[in-house]
Amino acid sequence: MTKRKQIAIYGKGGIGKSTTTSNLSAALSDIGYNVMQIGCDPKNDSTTTLRNGKPIPTVMDTIRSGSHDLSNLIHEGYNGIHCVEAGGPEPGVGCAGRGIIAAIELLDSNGIIDDYDPDIVIYDVLGDVVCGGFAIPIRQGIAEQVYTVTSSDYMAIYAVNNLFKGILKYSGSGGALLGGIIANSITKTSQRDMIDDFSGKTDTEVIEYVPRSPTVTRCELDGVTTIEGAPDSKQAEVYRELARKVINNKNAYIPKPFEADDLADWASSWINRLLLEEKVTHDGIQSGGSGV
Ligand code: ADP
Ligand code: MG
Repeated sequence: MTKRKQIAIYGKGGIGKSTTTSNLSAALSDIGYNVMQIGCDPKNDSTTTLRNGKPIPTVMDTIRSGSHDLSNLIHEGYNGIHCVEAGGPEPGVGCAGRGIIAAIELLDSNGIIDDYDPDIVIYDVLGDVVCGGFAIPIRQGIAEQVYTVTSSDYMAIYAVNNLFKGILKYSGSGGALLGGIIANSITKTSQRDMIDDFSGKTDTEVIEYVPRSPTVTRCELDGVTTIEGAPDSKQAEVYRELARKVINNKNAYIPKPFEADDLADWASSWINRLLLEEKVTHDGIQSGGSGV
């Protein structure tokens, strides 16, 4: 029996964390790994495409409903993947980070994760909130390796840079280190080059480039992952390749984040290149590959 791998996937809201995480879980499970996916986002939709589009109650909702059987916190998804939504309170009602801390502590202290003996636990965490709750998987050694999903959008990279500051801050006290950047929604060479440049300048590395693809949208509308809904597509192969890399990846980068002003200057230096490629695309020359 190999040692359990525990990873956390961070990124700006809406950037593709849950889509990427669920496809990663599905691909790992197809290879034969026993997978647990824990959504740590007040949206509570991390695992929906692993469960035919059906949402599951959050840990705190289940506890509040009076359930004493803690196995009710885990819901079975695609290919037996163990799905949990650590969630948080309704938006605007309380501190989502605190809800997540409470949920993770509950799972941990009762040995619930151990009961399922997963080979890999993947935490899908909202990463653009400066809040202790969201830092929990990094800070307390719950995850040993962090990945971040980003596009080439400035605000997405800004969120990654903030995450890098968090990783750096806890790196001296046993915090999780970076396994790599997952570049998502890539359609143009300049976008890929920009993320490569960011990773080079922050002493990190891109582990995979995931194209923007309507296949992902179609499968999401059908309530399934691309791995389940379009297993023969090029996009599914990209997710499988990501899964193979993640499971074997031992990299542990301590990132060197930009200072805030330097990041803005760096992003400005890329604008002309991005605009030029945009213009070429708009002038009718083939837009980026869909990866379908
Ligand atoms: P997050 O979990 O970061 O908030 P989601 O995974 O929910 O983001 O993704 C937000 C939206 O973007 C979803 O509708 C999803 O289908 C879409 N999306 C994410 N990645 C891709 C991709 N590579 N190609 C096409 N659509 C994508
Ligand atoms: Mg999500």
